[in-house]
Amino acid sequence: MFSLIKLPPVFNVHQVPKAFQEDSIISGYRHPRSSATDCLLSLFQLTNETLNVWTHFLPTWYFLYKLLTVVCMQDVWTDAYTWPLLVYLLSCCVYPLASSCAHTFSTMSTRSRHICYFFDYGALSLYSLGSAIAYSAYVVPDAWVNSAFHVYYVPVAVINSVVSTTMACYSRLGFPPHSNPDRFAESKRPRLGKVLRILAFSYPYLFDNIPLFYRIFLCVGEGCTANEVNGLHVYHAFLAFLTGFLFATHLPERLAPGRFDLIGHSHQLFHVCGISGTHFQMQALEMDMGLRRSWLHDHAPAITFRGTVGAITLSSVISLGIICFFSYPLFYSTAQGEATRKASSASKKN
Ligand SMILES: [Zn+2]
Repeated sequence: MFSLIKLPPVFNVHQVPKAFQEDSIISGYRHPRSSATDCLLSLFQLTNETLNVWTHFLPTWYFLYKLLTVVCMQDVWTDAYTWPLLVYLLSCCVYPLASSCAHTFSTMSTRSRHICYFFDYGALSLYSLGSAIAYSAYVVPDAWVNSAFHVYYVPVAVINSVVSTTMACYSRLGFPPHSNPDRFAESKRPRLGKVLRILAFSYPYLFDNIPLFYRIFLCVGEGCTANEVNGLHVYHAFLAFLTGFLFATHLPERLAPGRFDLIGHSHQLFHVCGISGTHFQMQALEMDMGLRRSWLHDHAPAITFRGTVGAITLSSVISLGIICFFSYPLFYSTAQGEATRKASSASKKN
């Protein structure tokens, strides 16, 4: 049956434009102007993107299963205590889905590549905010509950998510966003783009984890919430560190360019570590949520719709606006390019 389907050809690094080239990846590139069908077909052949897609697409379904389990098994409509978990689980479904779509369709054109990754970055910022909302409700140590930090933690996380999306989109196109694909900021200064993206995702992560790091690494004495969940939190923190390390260093392919083109390159490992970290984070959150319920009920501020669903909705709307703002010049330049092409072909005919 597979012999009836013609799989798209793959290329080496010298055959694709600079914007599509990956550090130390020599082969396995898809055509930079693939059709949507070719992009989908390429998921069933081994290219340097295949495992990037599957390592996020399959976990999306697992996280969706976890979300649906909570919706079906718990009283989510009336029990406000479950809302932070719901918001967090939803963000856990969105980020791997957006990423797998971005990796699938990023080779349709230079423009589609930018827009695909804008959505990927927006979804990552959303996940960061989802984590902060859940940490605020279940993870903040006893000693910090109702502190000034606790009161402003989620509002600051909302601002961080917006700044993070803006910074990540800026890292690709500059500001104001450039409509000419050949003059994109990223293709001129790829290292600066990479540093900006690392900053865009590491600083909200570090902020979100302040209460957790304090609880598991610094706090001594009473009010530290030193329960059996701390071990799981440490696994998550370690995997998150490893995820950032792989993203920043491009190891192992930098040590042996071409050896890990299809299997085992840093972006695949980055996805696997990120998903494993999310899995441990999810387990830890659910355990904290169960173990601390009665104490938090008596001492913590009431969980509100505005502080959970409202916060994530606000951040999503603003992030979508930012993505539209950065994408608009790309559509504009496409329309202008088409008009110029049509005009020049018409003048040739005449
Ligand atoms: Zn990715």
